[in-house]
Amino acid sequence: MGNRAAARFGGVGKSATYAVFDMVAQLRAQGVEVLDLGGGEPDFDTPAHVVDEAVGALREGFTHYTPSRGLPELLDAIAEKLAKDNNITVDASTDIVVTPSAKHALFAALVTVLDPGDELLVPTPSWVSYSAMARLIGAHPVQVGLDAANGFRITRDLLEAHVSPRTKALLVNSPNNPTGHCLTHEEARAISRFATEHDVLLIADEIYEKILYDGREHVSLGALPCCADRTLTINGFSKGYAMTGWRLGYAAGPTDLMEQMLKVAQHTVGCTGSFVQRGGIAALTGPQEPVREMREQYARRRELTVRGLNALPGVRCSPPDGAFYAFADIRATGFADAASFARFVLERAGVALMPGSAFGPGGEGFVRLSFATSPEILEAALERMGRALAERG
Ligand code: PMP
Ligand code: GLU
Repeated sequence: MGNRAAARFGGVGKSATYAVFDMVAQLRAQGVEVLDLGGGEPDFDTPAHVVDEAVGALREGFTHYTPSRGLPELLDAIAEKLAKDNNITVDASTDIVVTPSAKHALFAALVTVLDPGDELLVPTPSWVSYSAMARLIGAHPVQVGLDAANGFRITRDLLEAHVSPRTKALLVNSPNNPTGHCLTHEEARAISRFATEHDVLLIADEIYEKILYDGREHVSLGALPCCADRTLTINGFSKGYAMTGWRLGYAAGPTDLMEQMLKVAQHTVGCTGSFVQRGGIAALTGPQEPVREMREQYARRRELTVRGLNALPGVRCSPPDGAFYAFADIRATGFADAASFARFVLERAGVALMPGSAFGPGGEGFVRLSFATSPEILEAALERMGRALAERG
């Protein structure tokens, strides 16, 4: 049988992160012991008060459709959070759409702003799904390879070198997956000038905003006066509140674009799970101690991971500013590429990690390790990697 799927799938590979999730599950099903630092998801349980709220909603029969935009109480809580945490002002009744996951919010945002043939600037290394999403809607991702030697910062020169008359939007992820870099005020200024001068829309993926280290401040592009009217802010509950399986996210931005995005929600999912949204209200309006506690634990794991990586022969790793990934430079280890390093570590040390090449230009020569797992697993993984690399000589 010929290729019956749409031609645009030609440029779309399977998700590299899900490939690692699946591979680990398959190896474990075969009885192989694997220490998983591959796919990134918090190992913490969702805070109990959030679970209680959703279970209560189910028990009281709150199991029907909600307004497509989202429950009014959740929209209010999100608007308040955006004002308080991000200095972003939106009208809860017109400028937010709740979605089943930040992933879906991103996809809906791209459907909203990109026509087939339009170009989306994607600074890389980047999370694996942005470029694939753009291709799925017939647009072209233009990967802007960032320089490791410059701390993977976004610069005006790099953006200017990749802009074209077809450039419609720029995607900015901060704190960044996989590099851990957090946008500086200087970068934000460069981006805002670039976007204004070229009339480019901004899509700001802020899903890791709660996970920051060393007192760093999160910079929201949507808070900059010149960007407020051209930025779609994407966020969700997966990382900050350890709610990956709940599938809950949202987009917020200028009214005209959100009006169109609402149609994407209406015609593709109808609404996000009713009881899931109730959990989201509890997450935003309830105690924030669990978020702080998780951040403190991530900070300890970051120290342990970065220290352990730097003790490995030929491996260099700077501490990430945010998120829960260590992005380690393995160019001095003598492996041909990041994929060979990842294969070696899996086969000889039983440790799963992500080759940096999966994250696009700029990622080759690096590997990503998720430290959203217990210190015991991290210590064991680093110890095994050390032994395997030493035996290799
Ligand atoms: N953006 C980035 C950078 C991510 O790492 C993730 C996690 N998969 C997402 C968006 C999507 O998060 P979710 O769909 O779980 O809300
Ligand atoms: N964000 C995680 C990661 O990068 C989860 C997997 C995914 O959604 O791609 O590993």
